[in-house]
Amino acid sequence: MDIIVIGAGYAGMTAALRLDRRHRITLVSATDHFTERVRLHELAAGRPSVGTPLAELTRGTGIHLVTGRVTELDPAGKKIVLADGRELGYDTLIYALGSFTDTGAPGVAEHAYTAEDAAKLGVRLRGGGGRLTVVGGGLTGVELATELAEAYPDWRVGLVAGGRPVPGLSRRGRAHVDGTLARLGVEVTMGTRAEAVTPEGLRTSRGEIAADVVVWAGSFAVADVARRAGLAVDERGRALVDATMRSVSHPDVYVVGDAAAVNVPRAGVSRMSCAIGMPIAAHAADAVNARARGRAAKPFRFRYFIQCVSLGRRDGVIQAVRRDDAPIELVLPGRLGAWVKELVCRYAFASVRLARRLPRSYVWPR
Ligand SMILES: Cc1cc2nc3c(=O)[nH]c(=O)nc-3n(C[C@H](O)[C@H](O)[C@H](O)COP(=O)(O)OP(=O)(O)OC[C@H]3O[C@@H](n4cnc5c(N)ncnc54)[C@H](O)[C@@H]3O)c2cc1C
Repeated sequence: MDIIVIGAGYAGMTAALRLDRRHRITLVSATDHFTERVRLHELAAGRPSVGTPLAELTRGTGIHLVTGRVTELDPAGKKIVLADGRELGYDTLIYALGSFTDTGAPGVAEHAYTAEDAAKLGVRLRGGGGRLTVVGGGLTGVELATELAEAYPDWRVGLVAGGRPVPGLSRRGRAHVDGTLARLGVEVTMGTRAEAVTPEGLRTSRGEIAADVVVWAGSFAVADVARRAGLAVDERGRALVDATMRSVSHPDVYVVGDAAAVNVPRAGVSRMSCAIGMPIAAHAADAVNARARGRAAKPFRFRYFIQCVSLGRRDGVIQAVRRDDAPIELVLPGRLGAWVKELVCRYAFASVRLARRLPRSYVWPR
């Protein structure tokens, strides 16, 4: 069977490496390397690299690598189209195009940096101090603000949040984040909606904020390839899938990672994260493998158990959550939190590495 996996992030890699290798597997990626996306804020802060060649991660597996940007999916013709015009046909498609920072607000694309611009941002910040404003009080915004404040003490760092920073944490978790932001000198402006980025800084619901550099860390958006192809998607463009990650509208297409809106029993729609994106991808590969062997695919089982936030290299919060992802008053703060978060990031990447030799080694909480 010809299986194409599009997107080589955490989800695409997990799925591609877990598929039975008797299939002809093609992995299509916009870049020739895997990016440890959960470390992009570290890259901006001076980490030398977060990339690993795909050729290294797939060596000896028989997976055929194609570098190119997917521009179209034609489910009726069972093919994908790349930006350079190449067309590739499939029997089964695994769609793993992930997500990216939504840059739709006025001026963001022109004047702001995002996590995806981490390397460029690092170069800019090493070029001399000034006022740096991070927009977004979610996990990514807080991780960026703290990491950058710690790495670049000659910059005055501000954080602009629509509500309060990381509202999804417990009271103890939030208190620790607030304390760390204060310790690192991050000026937090809460309850303020950023409306536009200008050459001078930021326009907000409460007036102008002057900044030399703006880092935009609003919500994530997904590619519109699935929607344009006619796949059933939700209001954010994430594909609707069944309990085996198969598109509810197109059974030859499985959708994994951030690109999929997975209904998790007792926890609602999947959160865009590696924490569930990798289990989703592994489960999809298991379903494809089972069906190709004429067996029934099992329904997805998963339970959230922690949320991790890094607060620079020496601080962090590990927040225990119930299976429905709601926080409880149990947190591991400080150095220990930073250490566990580091282990979690290493586990995610190590799982991708290990799957080259041990395809079914990745395990997750159920
Ligand atoms: C700074 C930061 C910190 C984070 N920290 C955490 C954390 O601590 N824990 C956690 O669980 N999650 C975290 N996340 C979220 C996590 O990174 C994502 O949820 C995860 O990467 C999603 O995996 P994915 O494989 O679905 O997508 P991605 O990792 O985004 O991979 C998608 C891949 O598809 C490729 N691609 C995209 N479009 C095309 C195209 N048209 N053609 C070909 N290839 C394409 C991309 O180049 C990429 O390789 C963080 C994110 C950021 C930005």
